[in-house]
Amino acid sequence: MKRTDDKIRSAIINFDDFDCPICTEPFIAPIFQCDNGHLVCSVCCPKLRNKCPSCAFPIDDKRCRAMEKVLETIRIPCSVLGCTKVLCYGELSAHEKECTLSLCACPVPGCKYTASYKNIYDHYITGHLKGSCWGRPMLDMFTSGMSFSVE
Ligand SMILES: [Zn+2]
Ligand SMILES: [Zn+2]
Ligand SMILES: [Zn+2]
Ligand SMILES: [Zn+2]
Repeated sequence: MKRTDDKIRSAIINFDDFDCPICTEPFIAPIFQCDNGHLVCSVCCPKLRNKCPSCAFPIDDKRCRAMEKVLETIRIPCSVLGCTKVLCYGELSAHEKECTLSLCACPVPGCKYTASYKNIYDHYITGHLKGSCWGRPMLDMFTSGMSFSVE
């Protein structure tokens, strides 16, 4: 069992290990493991007929509580610019997908800034509005909500 602990400690550094090796989805409790400490998610476990794909040891109903605990406690900030959400690993990828879709691009030509609607607005006010020829018309566009979807 000592080996399992070592494996989990190193998994904290490598986020790839937080994904199921079979379906590559992020692990969400319950997580199952074989006698050698190979981890499989709860969706894949029954499909494998409780046999470890890496070493063919039985997985049965052995839960990997240590890994579940790690997943429960870690919190990762959303990587999307302007988003302040902090989520547990299992929820992160779904949120980031959604979060990226709700991004807006800065409407000023040549500006590559993208962020959430609110952050774009702030960026526009502070970054472009002052002394720029993109003043009023663009601001009207913002305030009327035209061509922007608010999440
Ligand atoms: Zn899986
Ligand atoms: Zn195994
Ligand atoms: Zn986000
Ligand atoms: Zn901009």
